[in-house]
Amino acid sequence: MSATTVGVEYRDQVRAFIAANAPAGQWYDGVRVPRDTGTERAVRNWYASLFDAGYMGGSWPVEYGGSTDHRPEYDAVVMEEIVRARAPRPIDQVMLAAHLIVTFGTASQKRRHLPRIRSGQDIWCQLLSEPGVGSDLARLSTKAIRQEDGTFRVDGQKVWTTDGQWSQMGVLLARTDPQAAKPHAGLTMFVVDMSTPGIDVRPIREMMGSDEFCEVYFDGAVLPADSVLGEVNQGWSVANSGLASERAYVGANTVMLELLFDDLVELARCVELSDGPGIGDPVVRTELADFKARVTAVQHIAQDAVAKVSAGTDTPTDGMIAKLLYTELNVALCRYAMTLANAGRLTEAGHVVHRRWQQAFLWSRALTISGGSSEIVHNVLATQLLGLPRSW
Ligand SMILES: Cc1cc2nc3c(=O)[nH]c(=O)nc-3n(C[C@H](O)[C@H](O)[C@H](O)COP(=O)(O)OP(=O)(O)OC[C@H]3O[C@@H](n4cnc5c(N)ncnc54)[C@H](O)[C@@H]3O)c2cc1C
Repeated sequence: MSATTVGVEYRDQVRAFIAANAPAGQWYDGVRVPRDTGTERAVRNWYASLFDAGYMGGSWPVEYGGSTDHRPEYDAVVMEEIVRARAPRPIDQVMLAAHLIVTFGTASQKRRHLPRIRSGQDIWCQLLSEPGVGSDLARLSTKAIRQEDGTFRVDGQKVWTTDGQWSQMGVLLARTDPQAAKPHAGLTMFVVDMSTPGIDVRPIREMMGSDEFCEVYFDGAVLPADSVLGEVNQGWSVANSGLASERAYVGANTVMLELLFDDLVELARCVELSDGPGIGDPVVRTELADFKARVTAVQHIAQDAVAKVSAGTDTPTDGMIAKLLYTELNVALCRYAMTLANAGRLTEAGHVVHRRWQQAFLWSRALTISGGSSEIVHNVLATQLLGLPRSW
């Protein structure tokens, strides 16, 4: 059963819960970090309420609040409805950190970290990319060298760390064996307390005017021996498992296309062209119809991928195809919206819609980079799906 066929009743229940409990205000594209302490408290409480109500963490072990009759498609529905409501999403701590701790964590790591994720006390970040490596992550150079007492000394720099400035914890991929025969063979995943001395988090100001990412410097930070997640030098498979777990949520992302399409229709109503509102123009109407068809097609492809993930019958390229189509269509929608907005005069209401589009436009490229850039996805599809030779 896919997310689309989970009972309407369950979806309605989730919608009602979100309407009653999500923090006020709309969270637009690219806005992920709370701007003040009041908002931060509200977001943490919101995350905790999702766990308390059983809408998050259902797949966790029962002793940590999971449910025996949990179905993966429930998670997909919850994420879809959070996106539809433009409410904040607990992305890294649910998709990556919690997944890794449940899958690879020791009993003591589960005891220590899962309850604090449930209660909203700990926000997590991913410490993977570096100034010199992103797509080619296996070549990362941050070192974690084991000391005589079993601890690890970490030196290096991470970048593009989403949520770094308000995270208590992070998952760090670092090189523990610089002599390993292959780059990915000498990597280890760690859980990191972000308040450890020797860790310096510096927010990055972006073109959208906000600080959504951080640089994170490690200068002799010492991590305890029991901070290894999984096995030493097996970090590559741990990291891949975490990134793959995001596949189940690609359907939720395509809900954003629906919202954008609605905004496009709204914009067309608010643009005065030389012969009347854009919505009455035959060329604009043709574009709208075309976008509607493309949004619907991508949603079907994404739902199919999510259904396969739920049934355990997916291949690694299913989610990638959906991700590629969704992110590139997102860019196309944003580009067209900006062209349309500039083709005429905006009504007063149109300025509000236009501001949303400007935000969405600036953010749209980011989605074609995170979680595997479009070029890398093309490469993977060419080699893994079509069996073509590598070109790099
Ligand atoms: C919204 C967002 C959130 C992010 N959050 C995090 C986070 O929380 N933690 C974290 O660690 N990182 C995060 N990142 C970073 C992200 O993982 C990297 O940006 C991504 O892996 C690409 O790496 P890069 O930026 O170094 O680009 P590069 O790998 O240097 O790529 C630059 C360009 O070259 C292209 N390219 C690279 N290799 C090839 C090739 N072999 N063939 C063809 N083209 C190629 C790429 O497609 C891209 O267009 C985030 C990024 C974004 C956009």
